[in-house]
Amino acid sequence: MTKYVFVTGGVVSGLGKGITASSIALLLKARGYKVFMQKFDPYINVDPGTMNPIQHGEVFVTYDGCETDLDLGHYERYIDEELNYTSNITSGKIYKSVIDKERHGDYLGATVQMVPHITNEIKNKVYEAGNSSGADIVITEIGGTVGDIESNSFIEALRQIQYEKGVENTFFVHCTLIPYVYGSNELKTKPTQNSVRDLRNMGIRPDALVCRVPYSTNSHIKEKLSLFCSVPVENVIDSVDVSNIYEIPIKYYEQKIDEIILKQFGLEIREAKLDYWKKLIKTVDNLKDEIEIALVGKYVELHDAYLSVAESLRHAGYKYNVKINIKWVDSEVLEKKETKLSEVFKNSKGIIVPGGFGSRGVEGKMMAIKYARENDVPFLGICLGMQLAVIEFARNVCGIEEASSTEFDPTCKEPIIDLMADQKSVVNMGGTLRLGNYECSLKKDTLAYLDYKKEKILERHRHRYEFNNKYKAVLEEKGLVFSGINEKANLVEIIEYPKLKHFIACQFHPEFKSRPTRPHPLFDSFIKASKDSK
Ligand code: GLN
Repeated sequence: MTKYVFVTGGVVSGLGKGITASSIALLLKARGYKVFMQKFDPYINVDPGTMNPIQHGEVFVTYDGCETDLDLGHYERYIDEELNYTSNITSGKIYKSVIDKERHGDYLGATVQMVPHITNEIKNKVYEAGNSSGADIVITEIGGTVGDIESNSFIEALRQIQYEKGVENTFFVHCTLIPYVYGSNELKTKPTQNSVRDLRNMGIRPDALVCRVPYSTNSHIKEKLSLFCSVPVENVIDSVDVSNIYEIPIKYYEQKIDEIILKQFGLEIREAKLDYWKKLIKTVDNLKDEIEIALVGKYVELHDAYLSVAESLRHAGYKYNVKINIKWVDSEVLEKKETKLSEVFKNSKGIIVPGGFGSRGVEGKMMAIKYARENDVPFLGICLGMQLAVIEFARNVCGIEEASSTEFDPTCKEPIIDLMADQKSVVNMGGTLRLGNYECSLKKDTLAYLDYKKEKILERHRHRYEFNNKYKAVLEEKGLVFSGINEKANLVEIIEYPKLKHFIACQFHPEFKSRPTRPHPLFDSFIKASKDSK
């Protein structure tokens, strides 16, 4: 029977609930159990695909093409399992599905209500995650804070799940804050007490508390929390601020959170295989050298907009024992007359241009690409970064001055990047993206092939425009190599320029498949080249 761990949050948001959920999942996996993760987001958007990255950070894409919350990136990086469409459910998705069923007549004229219709829909999503993944344990994080109007229906659904499946098959972890009050110089438990009371008002008694706290609490605090919140003392877990977030699973392991959960589930407490993770922590804490990598984008003031890209750079850094200092370069600043690119990039050992949408800032990104090309600075372009690399090459190497993308200029004369013929009609009807896994075949004796060391790869996509094959021959003539192709649809997936030390770009998003202990091949070789470049 599938077991369920639910992770809720109280007091304030931003306590690292996602990392807590991931850490618990990692520990349970290390104990030999098959785990699966899921996040409920209380907002009404059907998915985060259309949300502004400034407000919500990056959109993480699963292999099956689901556009999800960035926390899923943490999940995948921690547990190293591919998640799917059952892993990110918003209120909007739940409401939409219920309303569609109502319109379809599925409820046979019944009055459609929060309970049971919305709550049933939520419960089904939890059970579906368990059934479709075949996991022993599903870990579900509830976004937002307990007490928010928006999350009430989720909490109610969880209460019902506990009733249906029994206490021995469900475990509630509540993440809270223990603030330190200056003056009286004490840690305060009251906000946690209040938050647990809110939860109990909704029929849920947490099985464990994970308390974010500036330093380890003493037994007095734990006993107080235990008494007021009806949680055994040993189930009150400290989550002390750490500089290296990979330490968190180990901190929880030392406090036996995984054993506590497994005991409640009546599951065997097998040996925890955590050596690989401990090794990672040691590596991260002892990086020998450092290098600067310039990341050129239009949302650089919000680093979360490029979370997986930044993480992927760091992962490759761990492999080569270098700390990656990301220089966040605003592409619009590069467009200003007074900006000197040689000044901006003077310490950058590599330049990366990640994905993006719309025309704002694209000229600046192309200036960065031109700089990389002309100065032989290792370059990695991702999605829009590849499209711009091709446009820059067409304009400045092949002399096709009006080269552009129909995304920026729908009437452009030289649409090097364009919609496919069959896409044009679809876009008029509302627009779709190419999402999720697509196969790519690699050409032998190319950098891409050297990186992956295989002929066929699967990578995740999230884009609408494609390289226009009409221009292939002209660019090839000037030395551009099309090293990765989706053969089924004849689409360009990877380009490279072998005249330079390291100049490569891809149409897909490699950042979604990088792991801290296993950097993605394209990031791996990019960081290696950057580290080795003078
Ligand atoms: N805007 C481009 C497209 O839709 C690139 C998208 C991206 O970088 N994710 O094709």
